[in-house]
Amino acid sequence: MDEILEVERNVSLKPFTTLKAGGKAEWFLIARTVDALAEAAIRFQKDRTPTTTLGSGSNVLPSEDGVPGVTILNRANRIKIGPDGEVTAESGCSFQELFLKTVQSGYGGLEFAVGIPGSLGGALVSNAGAYRGCVSEFLTELEVVFDSKRQWVSPSWMEFSYRDSLLRKEHPPEAVVLRVKMRLPAGDMKRSYDEAREYQRQRIGKQPPSPSAGSFFKNVNDQQLSNSLPGLPLPLKAAGIVPAGYLIEAAGMKGFRLGGAMLGLRHANFILNMDSATADEIFFLAQTVKVRILERFGVSLEEEVLYLGDWSRLRG
Ligand SMILES: Cc1cc2nc3c(=O)[nH]c(=O)nc-3n(C[C@H](O)[C@H](O)[C@H](O)COP(=O)(O)OP(=O)(O)OC[C@H]3O[C@@H](n4cnc5c(N)ncnc54)[C@H](O)[C@@H]3O)c2cc1C
Repeated sequence: MDEILEVERNVSLKPFTTLKAGGKAEWFLIARTVDALAEAAIRFQKDRTPTTTLGSGSNVLPSEDGVPGVTILNRANRIKIGPDGEVTAESGCSFQELFLKTVQSGYGGLEFAVGIPGSLGGALVSNAGAYRGCVSEFLTELEVVFDSKRQWVSPSWMEFSYRDSLLRKEHPPEAVVLRVKMRLPAGDMKRSYDEAREYQRQRIGKQPPSPSAGSFFKNVNDQQLSNSLPGLPLPLKAAGIVPAGYLIEAAGMKGFRLGGAMLGLRHANFILNMDSATADEIFFLAQTVKVRILERFGVSLEEEVLYLGDWSRLRG
């Protein structure tokens, strides 16, 4: 396809996802620097080649039928921490690494990132967060390739909301996030580590060790539904939030299995790859959950995990 960029053909994406499932990228390349990432993005946007940027693959399920166009594995991961908590980070850096480096430099705010196993770029696309924190909170600017141009944009360009952004919409614009600038508050190293350790402890209790993409479905914001559920903890009732895992468990689906894919026993909103599950099996399990929850509670669950590539064979 290209003589300048080192592009490979028909590369399995399975090893690059935490679910350890899925088909092949039609074209595949690794960007090891932010300039290489930008160059590739500009080139493919100009050519109108569909482009998928992959970070740690911890929030995606690539179709068994493949991902058309180019998949760029983003390994641009430099982090620069300036005075006054101004951080410039490349989008391929690990979100947890960013937390550690900023704490070691005397800044706080990203404690919630501990245990989120993705890159900063993937975190931005889904406005990743936990324990009432989320990645969009401290952003001041983003560098993107959009309209075949490398440009800095304000955070409002991303249209962030709960686990959502412009780049998750049904027909998102072709855009690649290259770098971000953040301003973090001064922190206390011991307090940050203690807080992060406590979050990690809570996660270990809840999260199954088998391959997964974390929570498969988004929690539901529905005051009427939360009022109608007698067993729901009071703070959730007050906030009108119903965890997807609560609904799946209440529907009796905890541990439900389809081929090699299973709903977690510890955390019902995790789809686990227990035994070489195919992307088809994971997809069918997710669809079965959605149908059951709709029948039982009248609620349409929305995936937090993103389906990559061509799903037309299964969607019919
Ligand atoms: C065990 C476990 C626990 C988890 N816990 C949490 C949690 O507590 N909170 C939470 O929010 N999430 C959680 N997740 C989900 C996931 O880790 C996050 O969504 C993470 O931020 C995704 O980052 P990634 O690099 O893996 O993204 P990927 O899966 O690689 O990509 C996700 C999406 O972002 C796009 N993308 C990635 N990088 C770029 C870029 N530079 N420019 C443009 N588009 C890009 C991809 O094309 C894809 O559409 C968890 C996952 C696991 C496996």
